[in-house]
Amino acid sequence: MKKYNFNAGPSILSTEILKEAAKAVQNLEGSGLSILEISHRSPAFTAIIQEAQELVLELTGLQGKGYRVLFLQGGASLQFLMVAQNLMHTKAAYLNTGRWSSSAMQEAQLFGEVIEVASSADKNFTYIPTDYSIAEDIDYFHCTSNNTVAGTQIKEFPTLQSPLVCDMSSDIFSRVLDYSKFGLIYAGAQKNLGPAGTTLVMIKESILGEVNRQIPTMLDYKTHLAKNSVFNTPSVYAIYVSLLTLRALKEQGGIAAIEEKNKKKATLFYQALDALPAFEGIVEAAARSLMNITFKLTDSSRQEEFDTTWQKAGFVGLKGHRSVGGYRASLYNAQPLENVERLIDLLNKF
Ligand SMILES: *Cc1c(COP(=O)(O)O)cnc(C)c1O
Repeated sequence: MKKYNFNAGPSILSTEILKEAAKAVQNLEGSGLSILEISHRSPAFTAIIQEAQELVLELTGLQGKGYRVLFLQGGASLQFLMVAQNLMHTKAAYLNTGRWSSSAMQEAQLFGEVIEVASSADKNFTYIPTDYSIAEDIDYFHCTSNNTVAGTQIKEFPTLQSPLVCDMSSDIFSRVLDYSKFGLIYAGAQKNLGPAGTTLVMIKESILGEVNRQIPTMLDYKTHLAKNSVFNTPSVYAIYVSLLTLRALKEQGGIAAIEEKNKKKATLFYQALDALPAFEGIVEAAARSLMNITFKLTDSSRQEEFDTTWQKAGFVGLKGHRSVGGYRASLYNAQPLENVERLIDLLNKF
């Protein structure tokens, strides 16, 4: 039976990419070897990681602007501390828009003063604070572009003197942005880029070198930059599958083209939610995410009935995060419009 995968992460990958990824397990692009058994220093993998790095810069328009691309391990969660350890001299400002921002702040506190410029915790992170100011004498400003858990998304980013650091784990490459506004962007691959196991870091090299603390080798961006992301063995397979999605993204017309599709999917879904009396969106309209749509039943006594309905129809991953409740449909880049239409049909019938 066909499954409709709406998982929040790890999440859907296109059928074509899964096929290509499976082929490479047996025979990597005609090399006679499996992707799982080649050296990370082989010419074949060097070509893979270089192509992935170049595509990231090309798709985001960052070529020739002093940015470098790393594929690290430890997930976005390790970036919470690496960012602070590498960039925080004395203090940094954070916008707290959810669970992941809170975790980032907690880690950063180990390295200096964390200034919370604003928080939406008072309403369980169902909105994005917009009325805040950022001091000029901070080492960097950190924000989370898309709150995967509550389903909110930052629409506009501040322009600053200090480096702007952003956790884009759940909406990387989903919309056109002025990426050169950011000093550092990180994203766990498993939501919008590829499988679990690698974390993309895009960094403007000039923002490094300001702190004088000792940084353990593996946690120092400079280590990985000096060795172009192969200081130690990286997640070869996860990087390869991420490259496949980057190639597909370019073929489909790049970020502008995928943004159009993402807008269409999300608009259709929100329109359905707003039109149906049985359902309601959870977050403030102005903060609605194009990637993770959270909603609930207006009559919670129908929960069991609804759960049985979608599960029987082959839908997967719609249960909301335990801190939010209700439901969450993840409409990442790889989510076909057709699947979204099937889900809307299901809501309509219900
Ligand atoms: C999933 C997620 C994380 C955590 O990622 P890991 O790779 O599991 O550490 C961090 N930030 C955001 C915004 C996320 O969606």
